[in-house]
Amino acid sequence: MLKKLSLPAQIFLGMFAGILVGLVFIPNPGFTTDFLKPIGTIYVNLLKFLVVPVVVFSITDGVISLKDLKRVGSVGIKTFVYYMFTTALAVVIGLVLVSGFKGMFPALPSAELTGLAYEAKQSPSVMQVIVNIFPDNLFKPMVNADMLPVIVISILFGAGILASGEKGEKIGAIVNAMNEVVMNVMMMIIKITPIGVFCLMANVVAVNGASIVGTLALVIGVAYLGYFVHVVVVYGLSVRFLSGMSPVKFFKGIAPAMICAFTTTSSNATLPLNIECCNKLGAEPEISSFVLPLGATINMDGTAIYQAVAAVFIASCYGIELTLSQMAMIVLTATLASVGTAGVSGAGMIMLAMVLTTIGVPVEGIAIIAGVDKLFDMGRTALNITGDATCALFVSKLEQKKKVAA
Ligand code: ASP
Repeated sequence: MLKKLSLPAQIFLGMFAGILVGLVFIPNPGFTTDFLKPIGTIYVNLLKFLVVPVVVFSITDGVISLKDLKRVGSVGIKTFVYYMFTTALAVVIGLVLVSGFKGMFPALPSAELTGLAYEAKQSPSVMQVIVNIFPDNLFKPMVNADMLPVIVISILFGAGILASGEKGEKIGAIVNAMNEVVMNVMMMIIKITPIGVFCLMANVVAVNGASIVGTLALVIGVAYLGYFVHVVVVYGLSVRFLSGMSPVKFFKGIAPAMICAFTTTSSNATLPLNIECCNKLGAEPEISSFVLPLGATINMDGTAIYQAVAAVFIASCYGIELTLSQMAMIVLTATLASVGTAGVSGAGMIMLAMVLTTIGVPVEGIAIIAGVDKLFDMGRTALNITGDATCALFVSKLEQKKKVAA
């Protein structure tokens, strides 16, 4: 009977069943951690191993299918501008909302802060993030799943194939065939999403359920309010006015990818399903195979909102009142930090260190929210991939208009 349900329905069912089972195991989460979480991990591993081939072949193929280098440039620039603009908006929404709630965050006694020692991983400087985009080796970034340089490599190879004329066409055909193969492997893995979502959700609820209390619940609530406002206002308006689609239709179509992102907390892992959903919604396949992998790596609106909210919250815990110029710094660094954030679980929290350092707030403060980062991460990842999808539809629409005009 379950097989008769559509995949999105199965994913919904998996999520709700996971929540119920998680609630049952809150007093004793051992079962979910020992038995369900590993199954969830297998699912996430399968998705992760596919990420590098999906990005390499889909971006290279995307570049080739744009047919001429000028078009690559024009699609690339539109995508980049859209991504940066929506991310900056996201930070501003986060800052405005969190400022409204600032008075409700108590300045914690210092003993409580020092008791929560968080070993901050070194976060790179802004210039280092930019330098790291450019690979010094062909394979190293692929082995480390370091996506920004992998994207640069894929774009350059795609451009090289286009520039090589007839000889390039032969390689282009191979890339196209490989892309087809990778997409089929991806479809096989996507079919087990309901099981993966069930296991991951059950474990998150069982482990975190009881500990979401007091102030943390409030700051999580503020972040989710920010996510919600961004989804409704920015994405709703973008879909309606830039892509000419009904927001209801859009959100229905993108829901499976959002749920996958919510439970895997990885934009990279959600990429295959996001491509599938966007194409079904009417995005041009050659556009989505270029715009979405790029977005999974550089476009993180949810992460940007989270970083703004978390930075102000942590500053309040230390009794630090942020000035307007510090707020402006948050907009700049959170936008850049979200570009540098890898599309994997928990990466946004590491990059938060970059924001805190820039505005002079103790990085150890991350300890306060580290325990519940997963809950922030679920919402921010769902937002991250939705933003990518709105861009794929928008750029597709622009390209379709161009075709009609030509
Ligand atoms: N988990 C997020 C993503 O994959 C990144 C983050 O931690 O903010 O999009």
